[in-house]
Amino acid sequence: MSKLRLAKCNKMKIQQNTEVPSQEASFHAFVNATEIKNFRQRLLTWYNKCKRDLPWRKLATSEVDADRRAYAVWVSEIMLQQTQVATVIDYYNRWMQKWPTLQDLAKASLEEVNEQWAGLGYYSRAKRLQEGARKVVAQMAGHMPRTAEELQRLLPGVGKYTAGAVASIAFGQATGVVDGNVIRVLCRVRAIGADPASSAVADKLWGLTHTLVDPAQPGDFNQAMMELGAVVCTSKAPLCLECPVKEYCRAHHRVESERAASATKLLGRASSKQLQVLDVEECSASTGSCNLCLPPSEPWDPELGVTNFPRKAIKKQPRTERTATCVLERRGSDGKPAYLIVQRPATGLLAGLWEFPSILLEPGKEKQQKAALAGHLQTWVGSNATVGRMQHVGEVLHIFSHIRQTYVIYFLRLDKDEGNWNTSKELSGYRWVTKTEFQNSAVSTAMKKVLNTYEKWSHTVITPKNVKRKRDLVHGRQPVSEDESNSSKKQLSLDSFFATNSKN
Ligand code: SF4
Ligand SMILES: [Zn+2]
Repeated sequence: MSKLRLAKCNKMKIQQNTEVPSQEASFHAFVNATEIKNFRQRLLTWYNKCKRDLPWRKLATSEVDADRRAYAVWVSEIMLQQTQVATVIDYYNRWMQKWPTLQDLAKASLEEVNEQWAGLGYYSRAKRLQEGARKVVAQMAGHMPRTAEELQRLLPGVGKYTAGAVASIAFGQATGVVDGNVIRVLCRVRAIGADPASSAVADKLWGLTHTLVDPAQPGDFNQAMMELGAVVCTSKAPLCLECPVKEYCRAHHRVESERAASATKLLGRASSKQLQVLDVEECSASTGSCNLCLPPSEPWDPELGVTNFPRKAIKKQPRTERTATCVLERRGSDGKPAYLIVQRPATGLLAGLWEFPSILLEPGKEKQQKAALAGHLQTWVGSNATVGRMQHVGEVLHIFSHIRQTYVIYFLRLDKDEGNWNTSKELSGYRWVTKTEFQNSAVSTAMKKVLNTYEKWSHTVITPKNVKRKRDLVHGRQPVSEDESNSSKKQLSLDSFFATNSKN
């Protein structure tokens, strides 16, 4: 079906679906066609003038092949989930350069896909995107499903939001979308203060967005709503005075009404009749029975202004974990350092990514962390991984969405001639890499932080007097003061310090 016909058909559907709100719910709805028309017009005019120039937007308008266009939108929408636009741009450009079509992505290995994604987080997104591309190529003759319903039903990792975004932007289907930005805008515009995660609010927001979406330009409309939330109706400091839809925003009206009321009071000019006129609009069911209003336990706070909406979703506390990890180094045949990295299991957290050999520490067993790690290392290096030779580097915290993970970092250098490597062919999923290869491998941001921490530690420059001070401390002697020291100014790297001291 052509884009135009599809849009017309959907226009009819939307018109039939337009809610006629009950009296109680009308406060949280758009009540007439004129209001909806004006809202669309203002928003789109602003968007056409002010939208950011983003690579996926260019492709969505310039690409004439519908499947390539949908693929380009799909990649951007998956990357943008949980990740900021500024971070995504480079990843997106590199990805589209490497795999400009579904067919190209379908041919890639999962290893390559993870490498391209490394650093973006939520790695299962990349895996599912590639599985989806393979499915479209193998089972749908390379043609993307054309509607939101089919996209969601047929493609792995495509939820209601992504399906709506791809269908509206790439195929012109008049279907709304609800993401974090849209939630914020609509909750403020229609004064919805109940928990956004509740089904009552979620249903309401989807209903509103389907009603509001412009059937003639659904893709632009949806992007405009998201853009408004990203750059004007921001979470902490919304720019209401610059907002193209402030006239239709109940949260803004309330702030303005309160401001006007207090100004009038201050001037002492108001008659009680005038103050009544300034009363803010209220939901007719705001006695506590409305499941969309701010809950009575958290009423409107004038200090917060429009940011009373949306209500903050109650976040589950992330669990705390500790992992011992070892930067295991040996000299390669060229004399340069090489590091051991190991592949994680194919499912679960950071599935299939590479990391320094690591072991999750059982709660309460932190004291045995070094021994536990040394035992773990023996899989690859035999008895060379003795506890005594491992050096503690430090700790680094990395926060995943649901875990506060502390990596306890150790370092172990093995000599070139130590031949106790496990060369068993059975033992796959590990390799030795140079620093550059490490950076280009599918490693997580957490592991890059571990390498950075190790490098800072190993490059710490110490002077001979500090070496002496350290020795004094180790032997329980009072270190000599700086003035008493005749140490040379020559500086040694920590590497050479350890080389010298390993003989002692
Ligand atoms: S007027 Fe303010 S609160 Fe309302 S939509 Fe615009 S920026 Fe958001
Ligand atoms: Zn209400």
